[in-house]
Amino acid sequence: MKIARRIEELKPYLFVEINKKIAEKRARGEEVISFAIGDPDIPTPPHVIKKLCETALDPVNHRYPESEGLPELHVAIADWYKRRFDVTLDPATEVLPLIGSKEGIGHIAFCFIDPNDIALVPDPAYPVYAIGTQLAGGRPYYLPLTAENNFLPDLNSVKEFILKSTKVLWINYPNNPTGAVVGLDFFDQVVEFAKKNNILVCHDGPYSEVAFDGYQPVSFMQAGGARDVGIEFHSLSKTYNMTGWRIGMAVGNAEAIKALRTLKSNLDSGIPQAIQYMGIAALNGSQDAVAEHNAIYQRRRDLICEVLEKIGVKVTPPKASLYIWAKVPDGYNSIEFTADLLDQANVAVTPGTGYGASGEGYVRLSLTIPDVSLVKGLSRLSGWRNTRRLTPKK
Ligand SMILES: *Cc1c(COP(=O)(O)O)cnc(C)c1O
Repeated sequence: MKIARRIEELKPYLFVEINKKIAEKRARGEEVISFAIGDPDIPTPPHVIKKLCETALDPVNHRYPESEGLPELHVAIADWYKRRFDVTLDPATEVLPLIGSKEGIGHIAFCFIDPNDIALVPDPAYPVYAIGTQLAGGRPYYLPLTAENNFLPDLNSVKEFILKSTKVLWINYPNNPTGAVVGLDFFDQVVEFAKKNNILVCHDGPYSEVAFDGYQPVSFMQAGGARDVGIEFHSLSKTYNMTGWRIGMAVGNAEAIKALRTLKSNLDSGIPQAIQYMGIAALNGSQDAVAEHNAIYQRRRDLICEVLEKIGVKVTPPKASLYIWAKVPDGYNSIEFTADLLDQANVAVTPGTGYGASGEGYVRLSLTIPDVSLVKGLSRLSGWRNTRRLTPKK
């Protein structure tokens, strides 16, 4: 048999490599504390689990699900957008439930990217924007996110001949991995840019509810004209600790939503229906757990930032997202620093370069580490000594 080029050409998914290294250490009996994975450690709220237990008992939910999503789920998503962002969505045409947002993020490329088309993709970024583009036969064109540009893409830097072939612009705020946030003024510029160049904007916003110090992130859909040019991917994963249940959504431009719905109706049969009911319960129910979880993440953020500063790692505490984007000490690159922490302190972080070339010089630490591990990890980090400082590299 011969594997297709589109698969052969894929680099191993970043976390696979890291997890392999960690697994080898653990197999040798070493305890590795991992700040590397962004996956909420706190359980799904009990009232949401209760809804699963109830609906799982109903045989109606044992059969093929309502594949485009239960009408009640569409309405719950639209109502949530109205309450949270004062954005009015037509539940039937501007809302599409997804089997986790990753699924839709990967699949949207097949709706808008023909072979050799370009998608503008931030660098560093969640890997699926570029990989979806490549799987569809397109080419990612990377827009560096750097401290100098406040981790915003410089849209004006994209040359005319690139724009000619560009079909899609990916953006993501609050940002993974940099933790950067934006105001509506940035989204307004994005709308203008997309209108001028006839580009679909795909905004990925799973961290809009994970925010600290009273900060409230905005939605791309709040920008004037956003639904003329774009869609927003969102997810219940990070808001309600539901990564394991696989439920998310796309909202916005009806034409784009219809294209994605058409593709999906030919590939999948929807979200298991009991999980759709969990989603409705999460969106319509008490939001108290969201604030409680954010308080926990905020406390962890402060503890981690304090220790990092102590060992010579510069950080700007993030206002939102689950990540600390930390500048490695002088004399290190991302991979070397990650390797030294793993070898010398048995602490795992993610090298910034795993998210793109412009991630060089950074590592990412996740706030989704259980408190017991956090305390251990922080004590190892505080005890870690930068030996390279004594032996400067030639
Ligand atoms: C976690 C994450 C997602 C995926 O969320 P799911 O809904 O669980 O698939 C999408 N985008 C970014 C940037 C993420 O960090």
